[in-house]
Amino acid sequence: MSPSRRSVALLGATGSIGVQTLDVLRHESERFELVSVSGGEQLSELAAIVSEFNVRRVAVKSVEHRATLSELVAHDVSIVVGDEGLDELASGADVVVNAVLGFAGLPVTLGALRAGKRLALANKESLVAAAPLVAPVRDTPGAQLVPIDSEHCAIHQCLASSPARPGYPDVRRLLLTASGGPFRGWSIERLRGATKADALRHPTWSMGAKITVDSSTLMNKGLEVLEAAVLFGIDAARVDVVVHPESIVHSLVEYVDGSVLAQLSRPDMRLPIAYCLGLPERLPLHWGDLDFTSSMALTFEPPDLEAFPALSLAYEAARLAGAAPAWLSAANEVAVEAFLADAISWRDIVALVASTMDHYVADPMTSLASLYENDAAARRWARASLQN
Ligand code: NAD
Ligand code: MG
Repeated sequence: MSPSRRSVALLGATGSIGVQTLDVLRHESERFELVSVSGGEQLSELAAIVSEFNVRRVAVKSVEHRATLSELVAHDVSIVVGDEGLDELASGADVVVNAVLGFAGLPVTLGALRAGKRLALANKESLVAAAPLVAPVRDTPGAQLVPIDSEHCAIHQCLASSPARPGYPDVRRLLLTASGGPFRGWSIERLRGATKADALRHPTWSMGAKITVDSSTLMNKGLEVLEAAVLFGIDAARVDVVVHPESIVHSLVEYVDGSVLAQLSRPDMRLPIAYCLGLPERLPLHWGDLDFTSSMALTFEPPDLEAFPALSLAYEAARLAGAAPAWLSAANEVAVEAFLADAISWRDIVALVASTMDHYVADPMTSLASLYENDAAARRWARASLQN
């Protein structure tokens, strides 16, 4: 490897963010070397990535997957397994892209920060769930947490314009933009008939199934409020949501003097991915080009909190703090899986999360063991509600 190249670990390489990260790496092979990858169930796609990029280290979910993968890859490759495998790969590269889906991405988030690496984070669920445990590992010398999530990446860029002070006293509030998803403007009555096909038809972004469903319920925005609070060390009460259907303004920062900064680009995740890989440099790529030679309208409207109760649930979880956000996210994972398996209706997703939260017992959650216990308890309650 050339000494000037930055090594990259891409965990969750076969998913939507993973594939887009590979695209950035293909364009930037002079600057970056992909040294390790992981994948869930899509083993032939994973094998193709390993072969194309000549990757030497891979993490898979099980020993059965290891056996299958080693038959599919021609060159010599070290294959590690499970959470320990993810943790190992997350500590062995300059930049660690966490593109794993859901709570399963936890070992990557904690492992990269604990090892003092740059964590380019797409996996919001791990940060939301592990909030009380992230602060100490984030203090590891060298550790850097940069958000791939487009809204947070936008805020990261806006905040870079003034000196960082703990708690950002100059900032009145952060404004996260939301496309509104496929059901923007639908009445509560009409939402009763929302189908899986409707929910999976996102108007502006092409993403994995879970986050697409989360966008349709606005739970994605709720998780993002919690994510922003952890990332920027700001109370969730200072994080607002505004619906912006064009998905051009990726988020805004309002300062105490009334000034508002925003970051704009076309909705293409390769731009925030490249930003996180390249920092402090910007990579000369053109996926974000906007055409200012033709007229362009940017509109903003408040979210409909009655039709989309997920947002209020997220603010309530933020207020409760401790393990409450972990419960919210775990219950939501169970609910979305059930919805994608046609076991519940669209409206039942957030109802299931709400009924699970009724069982939450306050817990400050100060250890990893207690995070796993809380995650398991929330999933148990959510699954029990599914039976009723
Ligand atoms: P995806 O479902 O397309 O891909 C997920 C990846 O994780 C795949 O490689 C899959 O094999 C792997 N994976 C899934 N379950 C696993 C498990 N139990 N153990 C190990 N690996 C597992 O998801 P995505 O849309 O790429 O999203 C990934 C993360 O990025 C999510 O947290 C999502 O919220 C976040 N995110 C995605 C987008 C987007 O545009 N897709 C935007 C912002 C944030
Ligand atoms: Mg987002």
